[in-house]
Amino acid sequence: MSAAGNESRTDGEALMEAVAIDGPAGAGKSSVAKRVAARRGFLYVDTGAMYRAVTLAAISRNVDLQDPEALLAVAESVDISFNASGDRLLLDGTDVSAEIRGPEVARKVRFAARAPEIRARLVKMQQDLAGKRPVVMEGRDIATVVLPRARWKFFLTASPEIRASRRHSEMLAAGREIPFAEILADIQRRDASDYQVGPMKEALDLARAGQGIALIDTSEMTPERAAAELLARMK
Ligand code: C5P
Repeated sequence: MSAAGNESRTDGEALMEAVAIDGPAGAGKSSVAKRVAARRGFLYVDTGAMYRAVTLAAISRNVDLQDPEALLAVAESVDISFNASGDRLLLDGTDVSAEIRGPEVARKVRFAARAPEIRARLVKMQQDLAGKRPVVMEGRDIATVVLPRARWKFFLTASPEIRASRRHSEMLAAGREIPFAEILADIQRRDASDYQVGPMKEALDLARAGQGIALIDTSEMTPERAAAELLARMK
């Protein structure tokens, strides 16, 4: 372990200048990752946005999202890129950052996220991005699958109630009024599946065991405070 307490250990392989941030929706990943990237001059990469972009492309082409081959054909035919600061996603050159946050994409993104062929393709793209320059990459499988050699790895969490209230405020700001109880129930339902199996469970287990991933509970932290915490551990 490094003085920072979370520097990754590998078996003799060189570490990458990369920050991996995993955790559930509403844990504060995006707001923290953007701040850390800006402070360190790293590229910010939102991997969830990429799963959403494939989903949006499939919806707009009337493709059956439950057909893995058709979905893969969509993923293979679209160009996904980010602007220089990484906070806008371009699908075939068009900025779709707002569209990928819409309710239909949110409802259907699970089909892309659980298709192994789509995951393999997007993971490769994410690894290529991180191979070109230092990144702060956020998602669910970054520390465990995408960038296991990242020098810094973090798992962000917050209580379900806090995450629901953050999501509630975001929705209100976007002009959508959804009852708090409904949002909380959705978060609890998603946690139940995300934490049972898969890379997020693996990352959380490693973080809890103190094995190379720092666990940070942002429930009582502002985004500025949480970003300062990560930056301090990266020194
Ligand atoms: O983070 P965000 O909510 O934008 O992610 C959209 C969807 O993509 C979620 O269902 C999430 O579980 C999935 N996802 C994933 N792997 C990632 C990032 C997101 O499966 N690395």
